[in-house]
Amino acid sequence: MDFELSTEQESLRATVEQFAHKEVAPVIGEYYERCEFPYDLVAKMGAMGLFGLPISEEYGGMGGDYFALCLALEELARVDSSVAITLEAGVSLGAMPIYRFGTPEQKRKWLPALTAGEKLGAFGLTEPGGGSDAGATRTTARLDGDEWVINGSKCFITNSGTDITSLVTVTAITGEREGGKKEISAIMVPAGTPGFRVSEKYSKVGWNASDTRELFFDDCRVPAANLLGERGRGYAQFLSILDEGRIAIAALSVGLAQGCIDESIRYAKEREAFGQKIGAYQAIQFKIADMEARAHTARLAYYAAAAKMLRGEPFKKEAAIAKLVASNAAMDNARDATQIFGGYGFMNEYPVGRFYRDAKILEIGEGTSEVQKMLIARLLGL
Ligand SMILES: Cc1cc2nc3c(=O)[nH]c(=O)nc-3n(C[C@H](O)[C@H](O)[C@H](O)COP(=O)(O)OP(=O)(O)OC[C@H]3O[C@@H](n4cnc5c(N)ncnc54)[C@H](O)[C@@H]3O)c2cc1C
Repeated sequence: MDFELSTEQESLRATVEQFAHKEVAPVIGEYYERCEFPYDLVAKMGAMGLFGLPISEEYGGMGGDYFALCLALEELARVDSSVAITLEAGVSLGAMPIYRFGTPEQKRKWLPALTAGEKLGAFGLTEPGGGSDAGATRTTARLDGDEWVINGSKCFITNSGTDITSLVTVTAITGEREGGKKEISAIMVPAGTPGFRVSEKYSKVGWNASDTRELFFDDCRVPAANLLGERGRGYAQFLSILDEGRIAIAALSVGLAQGCIDESIRYAKEREAFGQKIGAYQAIQFKIADMEARAHTARLAYYAAAAKMLRGEPFKKEAAIAKLVASNAAMDNARDATQIFGGYGFMNEYPVGRFYRDAKILEIGEGTSEVQKMLIARLLGL
């Protein structure tokens, strides 16, 4: 039993920590206020190899593993979650479906630019009529000669409309199984394909420097060869991508929870009230101790889930637990950190206000907390 990072892992963690503090922290507040996508930071993360961390060198990646991606996400989210989710969605939702299920040709065609961070891929599962109930997909794809003709829409899709988005992989109904069940497949739609339109960016509560849009498909034609993986396996493929993604979101949540602790300790040692530093009051100390306990527990949960995944063991339950616990920790720590900052916590000048706005989505995206509990209960045989 060893939860210590190896020398290589620690070196990656420290490199990303330094990048986040030196390059992200000084500028991200302004991007956030302007709701602007930070292309320069994405390019820098690309140059560092972060978009290729869990992908083999054959496709331009770093040849690392999924845990390496999680470490990078945790360190980025300690400083900012918009940048972290851009990386998370770019790798775990954009590139990984192709890496896991693509043909060698598809991988050669799409992955090198995605792993370099020069292009971004997106993952279109959620629809206006179905998020948690993703099987309620209404988007259709009909084979016409050697082309799929796609009709429908998707909502809340991360990284789908940036200047460097190269494709969106979407789920669509491609037929009917015996018994009337839907046959759902995954199809890659290159950005700019006629009939594929993205909305303006949503106005969001948080993650304001990330790109989230609605997608519309109106007789959008793509080659039959853009089918990703097996026909009819699209839903199952996406669910397995979400299992992995939950560990990544847990890591991102731990980063945010840790960022709240970092800021709170610093502030508690500086701010005075009633003649002494607020950190001298037990009420503040206990809040910070609770925050530390939550972040520590959540970190162990995502390390354990990642370890099982990397050993090739079933990890669905552990991933759901990690996502549930870590997103709760992020939300609770953001609330407590904002309280410790008092009125300044409500000002955009300090990062804790941003953490507060960014924390809530962690209990919703890639499966709500209720969905995690459903999964855990199901895996307990209930
Ligand atoms: C900023 C942002 C980025 C996103 N990025 C992506 C992306 O890149 N790709 C993508 O495909 N999706 C993306 N999503 C969508 C996200 O995954 C969904 O919003 C999420 O899964 C919840 O789905 P929903 O919004 O339809 O809520 P609903 O499913 O309508 O849920 C509403 C409420 O009902 C609860 N609920 C639903 N069913 C049950 C049940 N059976 N039992 C108990 N409670 C239940 C839910 O937990 C929730 O509290 C993103 C969302 C946001 C906000």
